[in-house]
Amino acid sequence: MRVVHSPLELQRLLKEEPKSVGFVPTMGALHLGHRTLIEAAKKANDIVVVSIFVNPTQFLEGEDLDAYPRKEEADKKVCELSGVDYLFYPTVESMYGTDEVSLNAPNIRGYIMEGTSRPGHFSGVLTVVNKLLNIVSPTRAYFGKKDAQQLMLIETMAANLFMDVEIVPMDTVREKDGLAMSSRNAYLNTQERVEALNIIKSLRVATQMVMRQECSVDEIREKMLEILVPLEVEYVTIVNRAFEPIEKIEIGNTIILVEAISGSTRLLDNIWI
Ligand code: AMP
Repeated sequence: MRVVHSPLELQRLLKEEPKSVGFVPTMGALHLGHRTLIEAAKKANDIVVVSIFVNPTQFLEGEDLDAYPRKEEADKKVCELSGVDYLFYPTVESMYGTDEVSLNAPNIRGYIMEGTSRPGHFSGVLTVVNKLLNIVSPTRAYFGKKDAQQLMLIETMAANLFMDVEIVPMDTVREKDGLAMSSRNAYLNTQERVEALNIIKSLRVATQMVMRQECSVDEIREKMLEILVPLEVEYVTIVNRAFEPIEKIEIGNTIILVEAISGSTRLLDNIWI
């Protein structure tokens, strides 16, 4: 495995590889969720590139940019053992200049749900993913469905900007008890972690209600909000795959999403129905 810090050097090295490239962008503190993306990239491509970059432009003032878990040595081991070919570890200075061209998230879909509590967050995400995709020029790039709104916006960007890349959505990997794996789970104390399980509980109850086919969208939301009571709920939203609010659940075209705060940790989860 080759560790590369310079964007231009990685770009040059990858130009010399006349092969299919699978790319997994991450912010590090790698867990089994990330490893599943890497494994999928490994299976479908000749070369695998992983990036680790805690991107400052997607954090708002007062968020956890400085506290975000950084585990450089452990992450390198994970990548090495997973058969990664290039680990891209850029510095902030090498990724951003001063007076930059900017990219904005769509005015509607970038500013609902997580975009309401974190206005501008998705512009930062799209800016960095755009830069990373331009550096790596991958055949396929892998993103988790856990961050469903992010995935949808990246798919939208790739289509809107006619980017020559296949965006591959990956299922959410969970702990044994159902908690969606996330680098931020490390912030949770014992009680907060127990309370966080109400998120998956609410999504499972919602799924059962959908399967019984006798509940409205509002009834499902209300039941979920009851279950989520110990947490500070940012939103419970039921949308179609285009992220439009729906009146009626359509199997195969629905996503139920939750964002809730346990202690001071923001947690996202969802179920695709
Ligand atoms: P992050 O390091 O949190 O920015 O995540 C990097 C990529 O891994 C994103 O595409 C995430 O959606 C994905 N990811 C994070 N957690 C999980 C998980 N539990 N299961 C599947 N993919 C995940």
